Amino acid sequence: MDLGLKGKVAIVLAASKGLGRASAAALAAEGAQVVIGARNEQVLREAAEQMRRESGSQVLAVPTDVTKPDDLAAIVEAATREFGQIDVLVNNAGGPPPGTFEMFNDAQWEAAFELSLLSVVRLIRLVLPQMRKQGSGRIVNIVSTSVKQPIDNLLLSNAIRPGVIGLAKSLSIELAPENITINNVCPGRILTDRIRQVYQLDAKKQQGISEEEALKDAAREIPMGRIGKPEELGALVAFLASEQAAYITGTTIQVDGGVTRSLL
Ligand code: NAP
Repeated sequence: MDLGLKGKVAIVLAASKGLGRASAAALAAEGAQVVIGARNEQVLREAAEQMRRESGSQVLAVPTDVTKPDDLAAIVEAATREFGQIDVLVNNAGGPPPGTFEMFNDAQWEAAFELSLLSVVRLIRLVLPQMRKQGSGRIVNIVSTSVKQPIDNLLLSNAIRPGVIGLAKSLSIELAPENITINNVCPGRILTDRIRQVYQLDAKKQQGISEEEALKDAAREIPMGRIGKPEELGALVAFLASEQAAYITGTTIQVDGGVTRSLL
């Protein structure tokens, strides 16, 4: 299927590694010109170089911390200056820290709000004028299955990420007449650096087991019997950004091998 992404311009945040990178790579492979942001400039530039080599598409690296409003303005400005349009925005960031209720003070709550929700608000605010001018747009938010079923020891994610769903659903109604869609994708357990770190810690806690054994244990809880691959999430992001997804808006779709136990 031709996704109609050739020549489109996509901004993908937190895209030097993991799920953001896989999403950017999927868009570039479909012929989109991609602008990627993350904090570590060298890792970001290497990611851009690899995507360029593999896809032949233009990939622009703009160092960006999604918690810094000036950085967000700069990446959107760079995309418009370089390519003259913005067709796709993929919101993503690092996850908020793990922990339970007693562990967090106001400053930590506020930081999680800035990282996981306010960054999405700010980016949408920045791209909307251009998308409105063009008369179409695609916004995809990478969240977590915590929006459908709370995850133990991830209180900040459980409490704050659902705000992205409320935002997206409200905006999907407001923006539908302008052909701007907004959807959320929920990774379950997908093999990225972040997930490796989680299972390295797990392996340390349960002395005597290796990281690979900890990962295998985790895979047993997943109906598919395996951890997901980043490109499996990237493929959904590219589809939701495509011409074919024009009638899909306000949805929240998990990519989780069946692990989430909610009906919707
Ligand atoms: P990852 O492999 O650790 O990659 C995280 C990416 O985000 C890196 O490119 C990192 O680059 C960037 N980043 C982190 N903080 C940033 C910031 N403040 N501003 C800009 N970029 C930032 O993580 P991942 O597994 O892809 O996770 C991506 C998101 O999905 C996270 O929110 C995570 O909680 C969520 N998630 C993942 C899974 C999973 O199974 N992998 C499951 C549920 C939810 P720099 O550090 O250089 O900025």
